[in-house]
Formats: sequence, structure tokens, C-alpha cells
Amino acid sequence: MTGSPAEVKLVSNAMANITRRKIMAMLVEKSRTREEIAGSVGPSMLDYHLQMLQQAGLVQAKDDSLYLSDFGKNFMETKSEKPAEIKRDLSGTKPLEVVEIRQLLPCIADSTKFRTIARLEPALAGALRLLEPLFPRARYSDKLGALLIQKGNKLITIYSGGNVTMTMVGGQSDACETLEEIRNTINEAISRGITPVPREKVKVDHAEIYEYLPKTNCQACAEQSCYAFAIKLVGRETALDRCTPLLESRYATNLEHIRSLLEYL
Ligand code: SF4
Repeated sequence: MTGSPAEVKLVSNAMANITRRKIMAMLVEKSRTREEIAGSVGPSMLDYHLQMLQQAGLVQAKDDSLYLSDFGKNFMETKSEKPAEIKRDLSGTKPLEVVEIRQLLPCIADSTKFRTIARLEPALAGALRLLEPLFPRARYSDKLGALLIQKGNKLITIYSGGNVTMTMVGGQSDACETLEEIRNTINEAISRGITPVPREKVKVDHAEIYEYLPKTNCQACAEQSCYAFAIKLVGRETALDRCTPLLESRYATNLEHIRSLLEYL
């Protein structure tokens, strides 16, 4: 997952229930049939629980078997990671290598683009938060223990444990190029051995926000058009949640991008 608020909410809702946590724990060991799961957690509302886990992208089904998706495995690994120790400078940080690009799934918003899970090693752990100034649009999230980088249409999330997720990737070579570029930027800072100085963030304008709105001009937000809504949003005269169509699953990636862009107003 990318760590967007919409996805975090789906995952935290899925994991907020003890039965679903039990199912996840069972699937960490190996894939299971529906009957095996029902035998352990009981048949009551099993379809609903499985649906919640699948919607959050944690579990997948094939024939009669249920198993953890790559994201689900990644999530369960992350849960067992210890909190990263906070570092004050980059000394002792080793250069990064891209060791794996694990998964390419179609994006919800644009089926011609993909979501990718990759891995950078060694894990940056407590040094990660120091890297925020290296990128014109990046922010460190304490909640996620991750650095979120906005690069064109892509949202790249680097976790302190080394896992990386990317949205709106054009394909395998695009994923490789993007990761290499990020790795080189970080390695350059590491080789200089200095802690990056905070720099001014690139500001966001309404045209950029407009690109991610549904563009239906439905007026559910009480504005005349999506463009008018974008102008008011940038001027802080309205709130993002007034655009209710954005809450539909097909706009999940758009919502994620707008929320990320709003950080740079
Ligand atoms: S509710 Fe959303 S989609 Fe509808 S006009 Fe407003 S901004 Fe556009």
C-alpha cells in the first residue's frame, strides 16, 4: 500500500476486528481453505470478514484458497518491525541498493498504470526522516514511519523497514527508473555525509488539484464546477470532504494524490 489516508483507513478498519486479525494470523503461516478458516473462527459473518480483508488488499482468493497478498505479507512484516531509532545525522548510513520490485497491480484510478511494491536495502530506519529536504515534495509521516515523495503523478512511500510502494507506475522499466533516481539522490547525500538542509517546498496551484478531481461538475460540493472547487480548496474556502464523489473507490488514487498535494499549500 502507499500509505494514503483512504488506504490506511481501509486497512485499519479491516484490522480493527479480532476475527479478522485471527484470519490474518492464520494466513501468515500458509494459505487456507474457506472451510479451514470457518473451522477456526466460526462461520458467522465469514463472508463479510473476508470481503473486508480483500477490499483492504490484504488477502486474495484463488479457487477455494485464501492467502495473503504481497501487500498483506508486507503489512504483517511491518507490524513485527521494531520502531526505528531516531538519527540526528547521516553518518554511518550505508548507500542503498534496489534489491527487489515485487508486484505490479493495476491502479484503481487508471488501469493502464500500476502499483508497485519494492525494496531498498539496507533499511534507512531512523535516517529516513532526515531525507525529507532532498525532494521538492516530500514529507515524513511519524504515523506511518515513512517518507512520502510526490513525483509527477506518482506517490512513492519509503518505509523505515526498507519497503517501498509506488502508485501510477507506467510499467517495470518506469518503476526501475524511478527507484534508481530516488536511490541516486539519497546515495549522493549519504556520500557527502551531510544532513540535508530544509528547503522551500514547491507550491501547489489550483490547476494541479483540478487534474485529480472527478471533473463531472456535479455540484455536490455546492460549487458551480470542479474548477471552482479547486480554486476554493487552494484558497482554503472549502474542505476536500465536500467533494463526496471523491470517496468512491474508483477515485481512491485521485483522493490520495489530492491529500498529498494539499500538504504543500
Ligand atoms: S462535488 Fe466534486 S465532482 Fe462534483 S463538482 Fe464538486 S468537485 Fe466536481
